Amino acid sequence: MNYIVFDLEWNQSPYGKAREIERLPFEIIEIGAVKLNAEREVTDTFQAIVRPAVYRKLNYRTKEIVHMDQQELENGEWFPDAVRRFLAWAGPDSIFCTWGTVDLPELQRNMKYYNMLGLLKGPMHYYDVQKLFAIQYEDMKSRRSLEYGADFFHMEKNQAFHRALADAIYTADIFRRIDMDVIQAYDSVDVYQNPKVKTEEIHLIYNGYSKYISREFRTKEEAMQDPEVTITPCCLCGRPSRKRIRWFSVNARNYYCIAECPVHGLQKGKIRMKKNDDDGVFVVKTVKVSNEPEAQSIRDKRKDLREKRRRRRHS
Ligand SMILES: [Zn+2]
Repeated sequence: MNYIVFDLEWNQSPYGKAREIERLPFEIIEIGAVKLNAEREVTDTFQAIVRPAVYRKLNYRTKEIVHMDQQELENGEWFPDAVRRFLAWAGPDSIFCTWGTVDLPELQRNMKYYNMLGLLKGPMHYYDVQKLFAIQYEDMKSRRSLEYGADFFHMEKNQAFHRALADAIYTADIFRRIDMDVIQAYDSVDVYQNPKVKTEEIHLIYNGYSKYISREFRTKEEAMQDPEVTITPCCLCGRPSRKRIRWFSVNARNYYCIAECPVHGLQKGKIRMKKNDDDGVFVVKTVKVSNEPEAQSIRDKRKDLREKRRRRRHS
Protein backbone atom coordinates (compact mmCIF):
# COMPACT_ATOMS: atom_id res chain seq x y z
CA MET A 1 0.00 0.00 0.00
CA ASN A 2 1.24 3.49 -0.90
CA TYR A 3 0.19 6.97 0.14
CA ILE A 4 -0.01 9.32 -2.82
CA VAL A 5 0.34 12.88 -1.55
CA PHE A 6 -0.59 15.16 -4.42
CA ASP A 7 -1.24 18.79 -5.21
CA LEU A 8 -2.70 20.58 -8.22
CA GLU A 9 -2.33 24.03 -9.69
CA TRP A 10 -5.11 25.34 -11.90
CA ASN A 11 -5.99 28.26 -14.11
CA GLN A 12 -9.35 29.97 -14.62
CA SER A 13 -10.98 32.04 -17.31
CA PRO A 14 -8.68 34.98 -18.12
CA TYR A 15 -11.72 36.94 -19.30
CA GLY A 16 -13.77 36.69 -16.12
CA LYS A 17 -16.88 34.75 -15.18
CA ALA A 18 -18.82 35.72 -18.28
CA ARG A 19 -16.58 33.61 -20.49
CA GLU A 20 -16.13 30.75 -18.07
CA ILE A 21 -16.98 27.20 -19.17
CA GLU A 22 -19.52 26.05 -16.59
CA ARG A 23 -18.40 22.42 -16.63
CA LEU A 24 -14.79 23.44 -16.06
CA PRO A 25 -14.33 26.62 -14.03
CA PHE A 26 -10.77 25.56 -13.09
CA GLU A 27 -8.43 23.95 -15.58
CA ILE A 28 -5.57 21.93 -14.10
CA ILE A 29 -2.16 23.09 -15.31
CA GLU A 30 0.11 21.11 -13.01
CA ILE A 31 0.09 17.87 -11.02
CA GLY A 32 2.76 17.18 -8.41
CA ALA A 33 2.91 14.15 -6.12
CA VAL A 34 5.00 12.24 -3.63
CA LYS A 35 4.74 8.50 -3.13
CA LEU A 36 5.17 7.19 0.42
CA ASN A 37 5.33 3.53 1.36
CA ALA A 38 3.39 2.00 4.27
CA GLU A 39 6.10 3.29 6.65
CA ARG A 40 5.61 6.74 5.14
CA GLU A 41 9.07 6.87 3.59
CA VAL A 42 9.39 8.79 0.31
CA THR A 43 9.94 6.33 -2.53
CA ASP A 44 9.24 8.47 -5.60
CA THR A 45 7.98 11.80 -6.90
CA PHE A 46 5.83 12.78 -9.88
CA GLN A 47 5.39 15.97 -11.85
CA ALA A 48 3.31 16.84 -14.89
CA ILE A 49 2.90 20.23 -16.47
CA VAL A 50 -0.35 20.42 -18.42
CA ARG A 51 -0.76 22.44 -21.59
CA PRO A 52 -3.93 24.49 -21.16
CA ALA A 53 -6.57 23.63 -23.74
CA VAL A 54 -9.65 25.45 -22.43
CA TYR A 55 -8.27 28.68 -21.00
CA ARG A 56 -5.20 29.15 -23.15
CA LYS A 57 -4.06 32.33 -21.45
CA LEU A 58 -3.23 32.55 -17.76
CA ASN A 59 -5.66 34.49 -15.59
CA TYR A 60 -3.85 37.38 -13.88
CA ARG A 61 -4.57 35.83 -10.46
CA THR A 62 -3.13 32.49 -11.52
CA LYS A 63 -0.05 34.35 -12.76
CA GLU A 64 0.28 36.05 -9.39
CA ILE A 65 -0.04 32.84 -7.38
CA VAL A 66 1.58 30.16 -9.53
CA HIS A 67 5.08 30.86 -10.67
CA MET A 68 4.83 29.55 -14.21
CA ASP A 69 5.15 31.28 -17.50
CA GLN A 70 3.20 30.76 -20.68
CA GLN A 71 6.12 29.08 -22.44
CA GLU A 72 6.56 26.44 -19.74
CA LEU A 73 2.86 25.60 -20.10
CA GLU A 74 2.98 25.46 -23.90
CA ASN A 75 5.57 22.69 -23.56
CA GLY A 76 3.32 20.70 -21.22
CA GLU A 77 1.34 17.52 -21.79
CA TRP A 78 -2.28 17.18 -22.85
CA PHE A 79 -4.39 16.67 -19.69
CA PRO A 80 -5.65 13.15 -20.57
CA ASP A 81 -2.05 11.99 -21.09
CA ALA A 82 -0.88 13.63 -17.85
CA VAL A 83 -3.67 12.13 -15.75
CA ARG A 84 -3.24 8.66 -17.26
CA ARG A 85 0.46 8.82 -16.49
CA PHE A 86 -0.31 10.05 -12.95
CA LEU A 87 -2.78 7.25 -12.18
CA ALA A 88 -0.48 4.58 -13.63
CA TRP A 89 2.36 5.95 -11.50
CA ALA A 90 0.14 6.01 -8.39
CA GLY A 91 -0.83 2.36 -8.91
CA PRO A 92 -4.03 0.63 -7.90
CA ASP A 93 -3.11 -0.03 -4.26
CA SER A 94 -2.82 3.54 -3.05
CA ILE A 95 -4.66 6.09 -0.98
CA PHE A 96 -4.65 9.79 -1.80
CA CYS A 97 -3.58 12.50 0.65
CA THR A 98 -4.11 16.22 0.01
CA TRP A 99 -3.92 19.53 1.87
CA GLY A 100 -7.62 20.37 2.26
CA THR A 101 -10.66 19.11 0.44
CA VAL A 102 -10.58 20.80 -2.97
CA ASP A 103 -7.93 18.97 -5.01
CA LEU A 104 -9.74 15.65 -5.36
CA PRO A 105 -13.00 17.18 -6.67
CA GLU A 106 -11.08 19.38 -9.14
CA LEU A 107 -9.11 16.38 -10.39
CA GLN A 108 -12.37 14.50 -10.97
CA ARG A 109 -14.14 17.51 -12.54
CA ASN A 110 -11.29 17.85 -15.04
CA MET A 111 -11.38 14.10 -15.72
CA LYS A 112 -15.13 14.27 -16.23
CA TYR A 113 -14.69 17.08 -18.74
CA TYR A 114 -12.57 14.68 -20.81
CA ASN A 115 -14.93 11.71 -20.20
CA MET A 116 -12.27 9.94 -18.16
CA LEU A 117 -14.00 9.75 -14.79
CA GLY A 118 -14.37 5.99 -15.18
CA LEU A 119 -10.66 5.71 -14.35
CA LEU A 120 -11.25 6.83 -10.76
CA LYS A 121 -14.00 5.15 -8.83
CA GLY A 122 -15.80 7.23 -6.17
CA PRO A 123 -16.80 7.93 -3.43
CA MET A 124 -13.17 7.86 -2.38
CA HIS A 125 -11.54 7.47 1.01
CA TYR A 126 -8.59 9.81 1.39
CA TYR A 127 -6.62 11.70 4.03
CA ASP A 128 -7.04 15.45 4.39
CA VAL A 129 -3.68 16.45 5.87
CA GLN A 130 -4.93 19.96 6.66
CA LYS A 131 -7.67 18.44 8.84
CA LEU A 132 -5.31 15.88 10.43
CA PHE A 133 -2.86 18.68 11.28
CA ALA A 134 -5.67 20.59 13.00
CA ILE A 135 -6.80 17.51 14.95
CA GLN A 136 -3.36 16.63 16.26
CA TYR A 137 -1.70 20.02 16.67
CA GLU A 138 -4.46 22.59 16.97
CA ASP A 139 -8.09 22.88 17.96
CA MET A 140 -9.59 20.40 15.48
CA LYS A 141 -11.62 23.05 13.67
CA SER A 142 -8.89 25.38 12.42
CA ARG A 143 -7.85 25.13 8.79
CA ARG A 144 -4.39 26.54 8.22
CA SER A 145 -2.42 27.32 5.09
CA LEU A 146 0.25 24.88 3.98
CA GLU A 147 2.89 27.52 4.66
CA TYR A 148 1.61 27.85 8.24
CA GLY A 149 2.05 24.10 8.64
CA ALA A 150 5.59 24.23 7.24
CA ASP A 151 6.48 27.09 9.62
CA PHE A 152 4.92 25.23 12.54
CA PHE A 153 7.52 22.47 12.12
CA HIS A 154 10.34 24.90 11.22
CA MET A 155 10.70 23.21 7.88
CA GLU A 156 13.25 24.53 5.45
CA LYS A 157 11.36 26.50 2.84
CA ASN A 158 13.82 26.29 0.00
CA GLN A 159 11.12 25.68 -2.61
CA ALA A 160 8.49 28.27 -3.56
CA PHE A 161 4.94 27.47 -2.49
CA HIS A 162 2.19 27.10 -5.12
CA ARG A 163 4.10 24.85 -7.40
CA ALA A 164 2.46 21.45 -7.33
CA LEU A 165 5.48 19.27 -6.56
CA ALA A 166 6.83 21.62 -3.89
CA ASP A 167 3.44 21.79 -2.19
CA ALA A 168 3.10 17.99 -2.37
CA ILE A 169 6.54 17.65 -0.73
CA TYR A 170 5.59 20.03 2.11
CA THR A 171 2.26 18.22 2.55
CA ALA A 172 3.98 14.81 2.67
CA ASP A 173 6.46 16.14 5.22
CA ILE A 174 3.60 17.25 7.48
CA PHE A 175 1.66 14.02 6.89
CA ARG A 176 4.66 12.06 8.22
CA ARG A 177 4.42 13.99 11.51
CA ILE A 178 0.83 12.93 12.20
CA ASP A 179 0.38 9.98 14.54
CA MET A 180 -0.84 6.84 12.84
CA ASP A 181 -3.77 6.42 15.24
CA VAL A 182 -4.98 9.94 14.39
CA ILE A 183 -4.69 9.17 10.67
CA GLN A 184 -6.60 5.93 11.01
CA ALA A 185 -9.31 7.47 13.18
CA TYR A 186 -9.99 10.44 10.89
CA ASP A 187 -10.01 9.44 7.26
CA SER A 188 -12.12 11.54 4.91
CA VAL A 189 -14.49 10.65 2.10
CA ASP A 190 -14.63 12.59 -1.12
CA VAL A 191 -18.17 12.61 -2.51
CA TYR A 192 -17.66 14.34 -5.85
CA GLN A 193 -18.98 11.00 -7.08
CA ASN A 194 -21.69 10.63 -4.45
CA PRO A 195 -23.43 7.33 -3.63
CA LYS A 196 -26.14 6.62 -6.21
CA VAL A 197 -28.00 3.71 -4.65
CA LYS A 198 -28.76 2.40 -1.18
CA THR A 199 -25.97 -0.20 -1.21
CA GLU A 200 -23.39 2.54 -1.86
CA GLU A 201 -24.43 4.69 1.11
CA ILE A 202 -21.66 5.43 3.58
CA HIS A 203 -21.74 5.05 7.36
CA LEU A 204 -18.68 6.23 9.28
CA ILE A 205 -17.96 6.25 12.99
CA TYR A 206 -15.38 8.65 14.38
CA ASN A 207 -14.27 9.45 17.89
CA GLY A 208 -17.25 11.40 19.24
CA TYR A 209 -19.32 11.66 16.07
CA SER A 210 -20.78 9.66 13.22
CA LYS A 211 -21.32 10.51 9.58
CA TYR A 212 -23.77 9.20 7.01
CA ILE A 213 -23.71 9.96 3.29
CA SER A 214 -26.94 9.09 1.53
CA ARG A 215 -27.80 7.98 -1.96
CA GLU A 216 -29.28 10.45 -4.42
CA PHE A 217 -32.79 11.89 -4.15
CA ARG A 218 -34.82 13.98 -6.59
CA THR A 219 -35.53 16.76 -4.08
CA LYS A 220 -34.56 17.67 -0.54
CA GLU A 221 -38.19 17.17 0.55
CA GLU A 222 -37.99 13.59 -0.69
CA ALA A 223 -34.71 13.16 1.19
CA MET A 224 -36.25 14.45 4.44
CA GLN A 225 -39.00 11.82 4.19
CA ASP A 226 -36.54 8.95 4.08
CA PRO A 227 -36.30 7.15 7.45
CA GLU A 228 -32.61 6.36 6.96
CA VAL A 229 -31.95 10.09 6.53
CA THR A 230 -33.90 11.19 9.58
CA ILE A 231 -32.95 8.58 12.17
CA THR A 232 -30.23 9.57 14.63
CA PRO A 233 -28.69 6.45 16.14
CA CYS A 234 -26.33 7.20 19.05
CA CYS A 235 -22.89 8.09 17.69
CA LEU A 236 -21.23 6.16 20.51
CA CYS A 237 -23.24 2.94 20.76
CA GLY A 238 -25.55 2.91 17.75
CA ARG A 239 -28.69 2.51 19.85
CA PRO A 240 -31.82 4.19 18.53
CA SER A 241 -32.38 7.50 20.26
CA ARG A 242 -35.44 9.61 20.92
CA LYS A 243 -35.75 13.09 19.41
CA ARG A 244 -35.86 15.93 21.90
CA ILE A 245 -36.06 18.54 19.13
CA ARG A 246 -37.22 17.29 15.75
CA TRP A 247 -35.43 18.15 12.50
CA PHE A 248 -35.97 21.75 11.45
CA SER A 249 -34.34 23.77 8.67
CA VAL A 250 -32.12 26.73 9.56
CA ASN A 251 -31.66 27.75 5.92
CA ALA A 252 -32.03 26.26 2.45
CA ARG A 253 -29.27 23.74 3.04
CA ASN A 254 -28.98 22.89 6.73
CA TYR A 255 -31.16 21.08 9.25
CA TYR A 256 -30.64 20.47 12.97
CA CYS A 257 -32.13 18.19 15.59
CA ILE A 258 -31.42 17.09 19.17
CA ALA A 259 -31.77 13.46 20.18
CA GLU A 260 -31.08 11.52 23.35
CA CYS A 261 -29.49 8.10 23.82
CA PRO A 262 -30.74 6.40 27.01
CA VAL A 263 -27.10 5.62 27.92
CA HIS A 264 -24.98 8.42 26.43
CA GLY A 265 -27.29 11.39 26.67
CA LEU A 266 -27.80 14.31 24.32
CA GLN A 267 -26.62 14.37 20.71
CA LYS A 268 -26.86 16.98 18.03
CA GLY A 269 -27.85 15.97 14.51
CA LYS A 270 -26.98 18.06 11.50
CA ILE A 271 -28.01 17.48 7.90
CA ARG A 272 -26.40 19.25 4.98
CA MET A 273 -28.11 19.04 1.61
CA LYS A 274 -25.54 18.67 -1.14
CA LYS A 275 -25.93 19.03 -4.87
CA ASN A 276 -23.62 17.29 -7.30
CA ASP A 277 -22.55 18.63 -10.71
CA ASP A 278 -25.62 16.96 -12.28
CA ASP A 279 -28.09 18.60 -9.84
CA GLY A 280 -28.70 15.37 -7.92
CA VAL A 281 -29.46 15.91 -4.20
CA PHE A 282 -27.86 13.89 -1.44
CA VAL A 283 -27.47 14.20 2.31
CA VAL A 284 -24.48 14.40 4.60
CA LYS A 285 -25.66 13.79 8.16
CA THR A 286 -23.51 14.03 11.27
CA VAL A 287 -24.49 13.05 14.81
CA LYS A 288 -22.29 14.46 17.59
CA VAL A 289 -22.13 14.25 21.36
CA SER A 290 -23.94 17.29 22.73
CA ASN A 291 -24.99 18.82 26.07
CA GLU A 292 -27.83 20.73 27.72
CA PRO A 293 -26.56 24.28 26.92
CA GLU A 294 -26.12 23.39 23.24
CA ALA A 295 -29.58 21.81 23.17
CA GLN A 296 -30.98 25.00 24.65
CA SER A 297 -29.28 27.16 22.01
CA ILE A 298 -30.72 24.92 19.27
CA ARG A 299 -34.15 25.29 20.89
CA ASP A 300 -33.71 29.09 20.95
CA LYS A 301 -32.67 29.07 17.34
CA ARG A 302 -35.80 27.16 16.36
CA LYS A 303 -37.94 29.61 18.32
CA ASP A 304 -36.31 32.62 16.62
CA LEU A 305 -36.79 31.09 13.19
CA ARG A 306 -40.43 30.33 13.86
CA GLU A 307 -41.07 33.89 15.00
CA LYS A 308 -39.27 35.33 11.99
CA ARG A 309 -41.30 33.15 9.64
CA ARG A 310 -44.55 34.08 11.40
CA ARG A 311 -43.74 37.79 11.16
CA ARG A 312 -42.95 37.43 7.48
CA ARG A 313 -46.31 35.75 6.86
CA HIS A 314 -48.20 38.56 8.60
CA SER A 315 -46.37 41.43 7.01
ZN1 LIG B 1 -25.45 5.54 23.18
